Amino acid sequence: MVRSKSILLFVENDAAANRLTAQVLHPAGYQVERLNEEAELIRRLQNQLPHALIVDASLSSKTVHSILKDFPTLPLIYYTSQINSEEILQQVQKGFQAVLTEQDDQVQALLTINRAVQHQEDWQKWLQHEQKRHTQSLEKRVEDLERLHRIGGKISASLNLDQVLSEVVTAAVELTDAEEGNLMLLDEESGNLILRAAHTKGEQKTNILRVPIYDTLLGEVVRSQKAVILSSKELTKIQTAFLVRSLTYVPLILGEQSIGVLGVYNRQREQIFSEYHQRLLEALADYAAIAIQNAHYYTTTEHERQKLQTILTHVRDGVLVLDKDLNILLINQACLQAFELQGQSCVGKPIDQVVSNQDLLFMLKQPPAQWLKGGEIRLEDGRIWNCQLTPIAEVGLAVTMHDITHLKELDRVKSEFVSAVSHDLRSPLTAILGYTELIGRVGPLNERQQEFVRRVQASVQGITALISDLLDLGRIEAGLDARKELIDLRPLIRQSLENFNNSLSEKDQKLEVEISPTTPRIWGNAVRIQQMIANLVSNAIKYTPKGGRIGVRAWQEDGQLILQVWDTGVGIPPAEQPYIFDKFYRASNLPEDVGGTGLGLTIVKTIVEDHQGRIWVESTPGQGTTFTIVIPAAELEEASKS
Ligand code: ADP
Repeated sequence: MVRSKSILLFVENDAAANRLTAQVLHPAGYQVERLNEEAELIRRLQNQLPHALIVDASLSSKTVHSILKDFPTLPLIYYTSQINSEEILQQVQKGFQAVLTEQDDQVQALLTINRAVQHQEDWQKWLQHEQKRHTQSLEKRVEDLERLHRIGGKISASLNLDQVLSEVVTAAVELTDAEEGNLMLLDEESGNLILRAAHTKGEQKTNILRVPIYDTLLGEVVRSQKAVILSSKELTKIQTAFLVRSLTYVPLILGEQSIGVLGVYNRQREQIFSEYHQRLLEALADYAAIAIQNAHYYTTTEHERQKLQTILTHVRDGVLVLDKDLNILLINQACLQAFELQGQSCVGKPIDQVVSNQDLLFMLKQPPAQWLKGGEIRLEDGRIWNCQLTPIAEVGLAVTMHDITHLKELDRVKSEFVSAVSHDLRSPLTAILGYTELIGRVGPLNERQQEFVRRVQASVQGITALISDLLDLGRIEAGLDARKELIDLRPLIRQSLENFNNSLSEKDQKLEVEISPTTPRIWGNAVRIQQMIANLVSNAIKYTPKGGRIGVRAWQEDGQLILQVWDTGVGIPPAEQPYIFDKFYRASNLPEDVGGTGLGLTIVKTIVEDHQGRIWVESTPGQGTTFTIVIPAAELEEASKS
């Protein structure tokens, strides 16, 4: 059933309203509703619009104005009892669409109303049509944008440049509804534009493969970095490389430089491209430029990566990179060979499932904070490798291994030589010492002779001490005895101190030892640690007068071993304190009869540093000296439990 059209009446005069309804509107099939409250009228209009609104002078001009403004498509008919051409003009000027008068006969009144209603319906239709048109164009744009977005996504996901560029050209053709499109890139060497991707909708085959950039339209786009849109009329004036009826070209710009051109064209149709098409092409050209840049970066990075990989693979040192969970990220040829793993796929597997070398696994099992700079591992085939463990942020751990078998061999030969030489040197020195002691026994010596003999003895003892210090220092500095193990310091310190009982009692000195039960174990070389303690304690005894006090303290603090050796001796002048760890340095305040080589503290410092530790001195001349050593603890938790 067709719903009848509705008319709203806002006419004060009952007789007039009834007459209009009964004689004109109802017979014509209109549904009539009458209102006389302005507020209600507005509400009614907001709710649903009638096909027309007939009002008389009782509706205020203000409301008329707001109805015209808020409901511009609603036909507004003015009803008046008096006909007066001036008033008609006035009402029409106000915005009324028609004027009805009491004098109009039925036919005339109906015609007026029908015309107004028809007019409104025409409007309505036009509006709907326009809306549809706009919606379609918007939908098309949304589709275009979605397409662009998809291409953008593909570009960031793909490293296949040819595929991306051909995708870009296809999209360019489809989005602009062109017949053909292509993408040309500038070849800097030849100065030509070279075809990289093309797309044709129809049968025709593309196309030119190479275009010089001088005196060509494409070249002009590259040089000027400006897009062009040309119709067939304009094209007839320009000599282009091939015959087309319309085209648009946009430059591909990377940074500040043009690197090519993206273009679409029609050979058959006249259709001219719009600025909108140009903008779409520009967006696609940007994508293409990004893809080219990505590909460039990728190729460079890949090239560098391969270079590095080749270096790492073929370098003669062993290189092993592990992630934070000690899974293998990279293992080079030298390592594979050393651990007898050739032909196995190791990457991604936990190191302890692949490598069976216990020395290496033990080193890796240490907490990361304890990974030391170096360590030695012995391979199945007898070779010895020096390992460096370097934690790498956000990667894990790099283990580099260097074959030191030949150094070890050299060291062995050198040690043999040195021990032979030192033995050979020591024997005559011992003989000299022995004979100097005998001199006094075979005949009386006068005082001066006795003094000379004492001096000879002191010198010989000095040379002997110097020889052994030099030999020690040489070995430590060369890092030839880097082999380390877990050592418990408490027994080690006590053991080192036992050797000094005689010297202490000779000088009537008191030794105070405080070794805390928390004293941690360290990862170190026991012989060297003992030597370090011995050097400090012997200095303390040597540089403290008779009856003085000597002390050794050890405890754990913040995951570190703290070891102090203190005395109440002569002290070191502040200005000289920075130099006492230098080779052969001896302070100026020493008693004349106290001998020394000036190498003891150098040896101590070298040992401390070899254990990743630090050493410093605090001293007040005449009051005493304290040496403090800090070395990272090996197993903090275990140490504090015991
Ligand atoms: P030296 O063989 O002379 O003892 P060191 O290298 O052991 O050589 O010590 C270097 C210098 O540091 C000493 O000569 C001395 O001047 C100073 N020194 C070392 N330990 C002490 C100490 N406990 N008290 C005072 N001076 C010290």
